[in-house]
Amino acid sequence: MQNAILVLNAGSSSLKFSVFELLSDSTLSQKITGQVEGIGTAPHLKVKDNNGQTLIDVNWQLAEVANHVQALQHITDFLRNNSNRLVGVGHRVVHGGPDYSAPLLITTEVLENLDSITHLAPLHNPHNLSAIRAMRQECPDLPQVACFDTAFHRQQNKLAKLFGLPYEYYERGVQRYGFHGLSYEYIASILPPEIAVGRVIVAHIGSGASLCAIHHRRSVTSTMGFTALDGLLMGTRAGNLDAGVILYLLQQEGLSSKQLEDLLYKQSGLLGLSGISNDMRVLLDSSEPRARLAIDYFVYRVSREIGSLAAAMGGVDALVFTAGIGENSPQIRQLICQQATWLGVDFDPTANESNAACISQAHSRVSAWVLPTNEEMMIARHTQTLLGL
Ligand code: ADP
Repeated sequence: MQNAILVLNAGSSSLKFSVFELLSDSTLSQKITGQVEGIGTAPHLKVKDNNGQTLIDVNWQLAEVANHVQALQHITDFLRNNSNRLVGVGHRVVHGGPDYSAPLLITTEVLENLDSITHLAPLHNPHNLSAIRAMRQECPDLPQVACFDTAFHRQQNKLAKLFGLPYEYYERGVQRYGFHGLSYEYIASILPPEIAVGRVIVAHIGSGASLCAIHHRRSVTSTMGFTALDGLLMGTRAGNLDAGVILYLLQQEGLSSKQLEDLLYKQSGLLGLSGISNDMRVLLDSSEPRARLAIDYFVYRVSREIGSLAAAMGGVDALVFTAGIGENSPQIRQLICQQATWLGVDFDPTANESNAACISQAHSRVSAWVLPTNEEMMIARHTQTLLGL
């Protein structure tokens, strides 16, 4: 029986998981990925092996999986029956606040500290923490590790972390944290050495979206800030917004803070602009003018921010696309690369259409790449290292 690490990524109604076997040479092999969706509404479990072959695809009665604890019981039962000896669990935790700048072993004290900063990521951290608690209940003796999406960015210099507010707010933790750090850290780890020494802009564009400026595999700055609301337009999040708009919505339109939270996190972005969908595939297939408007604004925002990140690094040598849209949409990559021609991107449409890794011409001053991300692998690596496995 092979030792294995379980990686968990909990959302509001979903629980994604992956199993990584620890091979004798200490490398990690991703064996299984799965997710329980519709927790609390219409629960559904899907599990695939590493070749994409479906192992399980079942619907449950609501009463069987009404919460994350029950979902985890099903997952651990499945894993026990599939001859995996779990030796550690790694969790994605979106926000680590000002204090946590590296993965760490979860203790009761760590959990209490994380509870006290859930307001920094209200849509993510509560679910991440409930998965940790459920796992502690289900397997109390199994060591668990928290891996933070903010950690990769904590080494940025102070200018990148500041807002122009009175300084005491910075000291109280009102700082730019940046997110998608596990994805960026993974991409930084796989950059070929000749690319990694240069100034790289990575576009993690999926349903959440941000850009990160990376130099020597370290984060320089990113488009996200205090929360995961800043920066680019996203599936349902507005991205960068004049703070005066918030004042207007509160003072003139009388929105409650809950209504405002809903508007900014769930009703804006591609969905809000198009009035059709938060899914880029649906918008690309639509002939509605507002679908086109939402796509155009998305590309415009990415292009403007590429310029901003290039300025922060004093130039750019490579552009990398990753995540759902970045890995799968030649059309969006083409629109973004064409807008970046002024920076020195000489785009290769044929390579782009065939989903090649390099999508710029050989002589391009700035090279452009498509590199699939693997946040789960990053979490498994951290868990392995921290637990000395
Ligand atoms: P998450 O932030 O949930 O991890 P992903 O990185 O998986 O998101 O990205 C999901 C999004 O990627 C989908 O909502 C969809 O908009 C987009 N996407 C996936 N495949 C394609 C495609 N072929 N063309 C355009 N967009 C795509």
